[in-house]
Amino acid sequence: MITFYCINCWATVPESATICPHCGDDIAVRQARADFVDKLIAALHLPEPTTVMRAAWVLGRRRERRAVAALRQLAAGADDGFIAASAVEALEKIGAPEVLGALRRAARHSSPRVRRVAARAMRTIESSEQSETAAPTTGEPNS
Ligand SMILES: [Zn+2]
Repeated sequence: MITFYCINCWATVPESATICPHCGDDIAVRQARADFVDKLIAALHLPEPTTVMRAAWVLGRRRERRAVAALRQLAAGADDGFIAASAVEALEKIGAPEVLGALRRAARHSSPRVRRVAARAMRTIESSEQSETAAPTTGEPNS
């Protein structure tokens, strides 16, 4: 069973749940609201590390490009290795080329875990970039 998170109380819930079994929140309605992504991005700044990591996970899964700026800050600047690593993993899933600078900084984090996931994320994004630009050409050499 794939788990998801209730954005109201941040408990883990089954992905198929429409009502949170913990707080009774209507998950489906909340996800359909226009400010759902804003709430997730705001949660990246909460003091509770578990909540931050869960918000990063949901944003990565949804491939929310609007979250890139906030995730970049966490990936490159969070002292907590678990938070930085979760931000890096979310950026890897979102996969935009503009995240590479933050990943390079994360690759020098004091936590080996962050350095490892950042190196992997850079390889993932760089290889997907190459396959996009490796479209058939007329034989012109790349400079
Ligand atoms: Zn809940």
